[in-house]
Amino acid sequence: TTATGYTAGDFAVRRNAAPTSVGERERILEDPVFGQRFTDHMAIAEWSADSGWHDLRVEPMGPLPLHPASAVLHYGQEIFEGLKVYRHPDGRLVTFRPEMNARRMARSAERLALPVPPESLFLSAVDALLAQDAEWVPARPGASLYLRPFVIASEAFLGVRPAKQALFGVIASPAGAYFSGASEGVSLWLSTDFSRAGRGGTGAAKCGGNYAASLAAQREAEAHGCAQVLFTDAETHTWVEEAGSMNIFFAFADGSIVTPPAEGTILEGVTRDSALALAADLGHRVEERPVSVDEWARAAADGTLAEVFATGTAAVVTPIARLVSPERVIETPTAGFGPVAARLRDELTGMQFGTVPDRFGWLR
Ligand code: PMP
Repeated sequence: TTATGYTAGDFAVRRNAAPTSVGERERILEDPVFGQRFTDHMAIAEWSADSGWHDLRVEPMGPLPLHPASAVLHYGQEIFEGLKVYRHPDGRLVTFRPEMNARRMARSAERLALPVPPESLFLSAVDALLAQDAEWVPARPGASLYLRPFVIASEAFLGVRPAKQALFGVIASPAGAYFSGASEGVSLWLSTDFSRAGRGGTGAAKCGGNYAASLAAQREAEAHGCAQVLFTDAETHTWVEEAGSMNIFFAFADGSIVTPPAEGTILEGVTRDSALALAADLGHRVEERPVSVDEWARAAADGTLAEVFATGTAAVVTPIARLVSPERVIETPTAGFGPVAARLRDELTGMQFGTVPDRFGWLR
């Protein structure tokens, strides 16, 4: 470590002796299926209550030795992140606001009583992994390398208390074009049987349990022909919270843009924050305030609502075509990409892929 923290040089490197062949890798990068194939290496750091972070290394991608009593397997003491590496036309590899992911992981770690990986450890693990697996970042337009940092409680102990041993890792998986055929907009299912988060719960943390708990709701959405769930407040199902694993935005005919406030029950997306900053910069009035399903229905009916869209690292900006509930269907006036969603998508992807100047200093 240095005065400024960890660097990529702190990671001991053990190269994969049997890496994916060049031909096989090129075949995978031609048409990556999300989350199925992984690069040849992974970055790992161990933590113990006694010694702190230690044994930083990049090693061949492969199974982790994990005792069956490891706390993560029983109590779900686990957090993760998601971000992408993009290849610019000049060959440079960039990440988009990775410090935001590192800070969100720090907040998730606090909530799950896991050790906080320092920002410099998070960023240098990414650097150390990319130093080995740079060829895995696709050059195809719209494609990227998805990074999945995670922290798991690895201590073998069956008592319920914060684990005294943990493991931080970063793995990487090639991702295809962000455009996934959703340009006509997706349908959301208004889930009232299931909730994602309650006050004081873990909604603002990116922890595995939130996603396990969302699966039954997602299954219900699909049974009703919807691509994603709209989560509302757990107590009254009145207030809009988020759309599956994306944040939700409303663009009104008067030019204002509204997203529900991040007050503990929604995940604060990096794309959400970027869309808010960009929209303000483009001259929109932006507001973080509660939006009810009734306001959504009313505004769609009286013409004051223009667009509804969702944001996230995976799909960047996705138009929401309609909200489906047992009682009613609310059609969005602009079903596909309206001008606001399209502009935000073009600005964000332009910066990420190096065709629009990075005027916010968001690229690393
Ligand atoms: N909400 C949830 C529940 C998510 O899992 C994600 C994806 N991380 C988001 C919102 C969007 O966050 P981001 O823009 O950082 O990808």
